[in-house]
Amino acid sequence: MRESVRTGAADRPGVYRMMSPGGEIIYVGKSKRVRSRLLSYFRGAYPEHKGARILRQAEQIAWEYTPNEFDALVQELRLIKQYRPRFNVALKRDAHNYAFIKVTRGPAPKLVVVRSAGSDDGGAYYGPFLGALRVSESLRELNDALGLRDCAIDTTIRFSDQGEFFAGPPRTPGCIRHEIQKCLGPCIGGCSESQYAARVGLARAFFEGTDDGPLQSLTAEMQKASTRLEFERAARLRDKVQRLETLREQFSQLRFAVETLSFLYTVAGYKGEDRVYLIRRGCVRAICASPRTTVEHDALHDLATNIFTTTDRRETAVPAHEVDELMLVSSWFHRHPNELERAKTWAVSR
Ligand code: SF4
Repeated sequence: MRESVRTGAADRPGVYRMMSPGGEIIYVGKSKRVRSRLLSYFRGAYPEHKGARILRQAEQIAWEYTPNEFDALVQELRLIKQYRPRFNVALKRDAHNYAFIKVTRGPAPKLVVVRSAGSDDGGAYYGPFLGALRVSESLRELNDALGLRDCAIDTTIRFSDQGEFFAGPPRTPGCIRHEIQKCLGPCIGGCSESQYAARVGLARAFFEGTDDGPLQSLTAEMQKASTRLEFERAARLRDKVQRLETLREQFSQLRFAVETLSFLYTVAGYKGEDRVYLIRRGCVRAICASPRTTVEHDALHDLATNIFTTTDRRETAVPAHEVDELMLVSSWFHRHPNELERAKTWAVSR
């Protein structure tokens, strides 16, 4: 393997794959300088290091060049998602910094904080957010304010309008949250399916910035408690309102971030392989060679028109399969703010 790298690899951006004797792709990586990066694996001084462990199980190395580092990042992610190599323990570059709120599927959806997305689980994702702990605290307040459940995903749900409910076991709450009015109680027929769905709809609207209902009702409750001289209760409600306001602010920042990550991004490539990346809502939707002729400019214009005008940009939820790429792209532009500025300028000039 070392010899094939020495004789065949060039020092330019690219992605590489390590294969086991059985042909399984066990690791995918990327580098600005493929040759240097691959040769560094063979200098591993410590057998317990990840690179040495990968090499012990690899029999073959293959690589492809990319026009630039950004392209290598995107291709690496896509290869990891496609092959799920066992040494790429997670698609979690910078994942420790981010959290998403997921609205689960099923008759009584839950709102949960997650660190990454399942590829095809059908849940809706909102994010990314910085600070999983703070997001979790704010989400607890939102659950309480809206009466949404926070119990195990497989809790048996029995809505009040389910025909078989009254033939079932006695109505016993699964936890105290229903009794203290922090959950509508879909586990014990405390609400109908449509009542619960309406509250989930409110939560989604809150995430999308189209409804402040939860905040308004808490604020009204806080004012009532204050008028009745229930100062401890008023103080607790004030804390809740503040945490929800924090969450709303985070969502507001998210909407800004995602919508801002929509532009044409031109990157100079290795030996003139310049590329234009059509990025919409943080995902690379198409890649073209930088246009040089009028015909190529027109083709790019048509493609961009198609990509940027056929979808609803107001939608805040991020499809599960786009979460990792959104994180990758936002992380890239966070680390290279000048690139973001350049991309915006280019888009405006069109
Ligand atoms: S009251 Fe029932 S549905 Fe609500 S959180 Fe408790 S167990 Fe879950």
